[in-house]
Amino acid sequence: MKVFITGSNGLVGYSLRSVIQNIFEKSESIPDIEYVFSARTDLDLMNEHAVNSRFEQERPDIVVHLASRVGGLFDNIENNYTMLTTNSRLNMNIIEACKKYNVKCLINVLSTCIFPANAKHPLRSKNIYDGESHSSNRGYAMSKQLLHTASKILSKTTDTKVINLIPTNLYGIHDNYNIKTGHVIPALINKILIAKRECSSLFVSGDGKDIRQFLHAEDLSRVIVEFIKKFKSGKLDSFTDCIVSPPKNKRITIKGLVELLCHTMGYDGDVVYVPNDKNITGQKSKISDDKELRKHFKDFQLTPLKEGLKRTCDYVMSVDPNILRR
Ligand code: GDP
Repeated sequence: MKVFITGSNGLVGYSLRSVIQNIFEKSESIPDIEYVFSARTDLDLMNEHAVNSRFEQERPDIVVHLASRVGGLFDNIENNYTMLTTNSRLNMNIIEACKKYNVKCLINVLSTCIFPANAKHPLRSKNIYDGESHSSNRGYAMSKQLLHTASKILSKTTDTKVINLIPTNLYGIHDNYNIKTGHVIPALINKILIAKRECSSLFVSGDGKDIRQFLHAEDLSRVIVEFIKKFKSGKLDSFTDCIVSPPKNKRITIKGLVELLCHTMGYDGDVVYVPNDKNITGQKSKISDDKELRKHFKDFQLTPLKEGLKRTCDYVMSVDPNILRR
C-alpha cells in the first residue's frame, strides 16, 4: 500500500515524517506501507498537469493532503484573496487527481476556522455550514469549505473514502516563526527571544482576552497514522469528519498563553498589550472538544500544552535564530 503526502515540509508534514520514522525504527517487521513525502520543491500543486503526472507515476492508494498556503491572523487579513484562490486551486487539483487515479482514501486537514463566526460551542462538524466564517480568515476558510464539499461529493460518487480532520490551532517545532505572518505561538516565541536578547519589553498584539485551544502537530500526525490503520483494517465509513481538539476545559486566553511562554522561556521583563488598531481583530473564541476524536480513538493521549510548549521552546532556543526569520 502506498501513501502519498503533500506539504511534507510544513508544520504537520514535518512531524508526520518523524512520527512515521519512529514507528519504523520501533517495528521489527517489514513495513507493508510505503510513504512518499512530497513538497513544493518536487511538485507544484498549482500546476494541474504536474499533479496528474505525479499521480500517474506514484499511483497512490492513500493521499494525505497537508499542503496549504497558511498563515496567522495578520497574514490572513492581509492576504484573504490569495488564501482563497491559491488554496482552492491546489485543493481542486488534488481532488481531481484522486478522482482520475482512483485513490482509495483521501485524508484532508481543514481547520476550525471553517465554522461560522457565531457558531454554537463546542463546535460540531455538522454545523460547518450554519453561517458565515469570521471575516479575518474568510478566504482560507472558504477554500477549506470547498475542499470539504468537493471531497464529500467525491466520497458519494466514487469508491474514494474521505477523512476530513478539523484540528484546532496547531503548533509545534517546524513552524513559521515570522512575527508578521506566523500564528500566535511561533510569533510570540520569536518576539520573546528578541525581547530577551535586547532586554526590551514584550509587545503583544490585542488585549490578550481572546480564547483558543492548541493542539501539538505531532498529536495530529499520530491521529493521521491511526486513521490510516483504520482504513487498512476496513473499518472506515465512506466519509468521516473529525474535529481534533483537546477537551473543552483545556482552553486558554492569549494572556494565559503569554504567561506560560514567558515562564517557559525565562523572560521576566515587562509585557505590554497593544490593542489592535483599525478594528483588526480575530475571532474572540473558538471552543471545541475531544468528543469526535474519542468516538474514533477512545484512549488517545494528547500532549499537555505545557509539555508541548516546553519541547517547542527548547528546540527553538537550541537552533540558530536566523532560521526563525523565514
Ligand atoms: P487565529 O486563531 O486564526 O486567530 O490564529 P492566530 O494564531 O494567528 O491568532 C490567535 C490569537 O492570538 C488572536 O486573537 C491574535 O490577536 C492573538 N495574537 C497575539 N499576538 C499575536 C501575534 O504576534 N501573532 C498572531 N498571529 N496572533 C497574535
